[in-house]
Amino acid sequence: MIGTVSSSPPSGPGLSASPRPESPGAAAGELAAGTVAGGQVVWEPVVRHLYVHVPFCAHKCEYCAFFSEVPSGDLMARYVAALSRELALVAPDLRPRTVYFGGGTPSLLPLRHWETLLRQMERLNLLGAEEFTVECNPATVSADKARLLRDYGVNRLSLGVQSLDEALLDRLGRVHSRAQVFDSFDCLRRAGFANLNLDLMFAIPGQSLEVWRRTLADALALGSEHLSCYEVIYEEDTPLFAQLGAGQFAVDEDLACAQYDLLVETATRAGYHPYEIANFARSSTPTLTDLELPSFACRHNVNYWRGGSFYGLGPSATSYVRGERTRNWANTPLYCGQLERDRRAFESRETLSPRARAAETAAFGLRMNLGWPYADFTAVTGFDLRSEWAEDLDWLVAQGWGERQPDRFRLTRQGLRFADLAAERLLRPDR
Ligand code: SF4
Repeated sequence: MIGTVSSSPPSGPGLSASPRPESPGAAAGELAAGTVAGGQVVWEPVVRHLYVHVPFCAHKCEYCAFFSEVPSGDLMARYVAALSRELALVAPDLRPRTVYFGGGTPSLLPLRHWETLLRQMERLNLLGAEEFTVECNPATVSADKARLLRDYGVNRLSLGVQSLDEALLDRLGRVHSRAQVFDSFDCLRRAGFANLNLDLMFAIPGQSLEVWRRTLADALALGSEHLSCYEVIYEEDTPLFAQLGAGQFAVDEDLACAQYDLLVETATRAGYHPYEIANFARSSTPTLTDLELPSFACRHNVNYWRGGSFYGLGPSATSYVRGERTRNWANTPLYCGQLERDRRAFESRETLSPRARAAETAAFGLRMNLGWPYADFTAVTGFDLRSEWAEDLDWLVAQGWGERQPDRFRLTRQGLRFADLAAERLLRPDR
């Protein structure tokens, strides 16, 4: 199974999780959680990254296991009030360098709710992030909304395209059409957005290599700055999982691998730099060295992969702050009820041991094509990747999945395909 990524923050030791450029060619380790001094991790005085989960969708897609629901009654207004309260509770500890509104479908929120949230962020001094991303569905983009987001400092939009084949869009239960993708892309460009991402999916049941080739060609012709491509995964409790179980189609792993190879070759030829298993970005730097990220790499996601702290707000969202992981209730009325009493809406909280945390940081960081520079890994975690994980690194090399370079360890192209399995090997869960 090719490693998969989601826009939501990593939620725990399971590794199916996984997206403004700061400066062109930023060094890989610059957004690390903290640095180690005297054997102790020294955390930044304030948290620099904010994720907000918007748990509403117009319709539930066939493959979706994210927490989201079709809004009814006054739930959306209640959620906006609760989220405004949650923002106020964390604001004293937050100066965001990156903000990411994911979901769900953030662009489903009507203009008035966006005004409420953005004004609240302004009051709390949470605007001005270097990279501020909002996920959009092509069916729910409008010129008014795009202008409002721009006016409040949103500078990166991520369009959930998934496919440009009408039959496959239907198959996935998507609410938008192929034509809406092109219309919304033009609308966002006209509104002045110079950093756009397209999300695509491959290994969709019924998607031939030829259909994937055409989708890639049409998507690349749009000229977005960033591309995220996910392999379909079959999550329990989704209609697609049930259809697979009922034998309505079979998984073709060879086809998925051929589609992934085609993706990497086509995107690279078109000038995108693969910098993580599923993520490709353009760069304003003509030549990139091994120690640099493309300038349009998503800094928000880089922080996840490098083990950095972040606040995650909204129902089901995970936060990871100074070594403590908390998760909010995946239940919107329950989440709202807690915030209405002025309490954080935690369903769970855990503090990982330094060793377990370092292992997760190793596993997530190897999803990046840069791999883990040994010195950066030690600076972030306090552990030596070479000695502490020596046997595992030997095993990865023996599989053809990993390679040792003088200054770093990284996964090979084949290893990136099996990144979830490679990661499992590195984890050291607390018992
Ligand atoms: S739009 Fe995204 S979050 Fe909503 S149901 Fe579809 S896949 Fe899930």
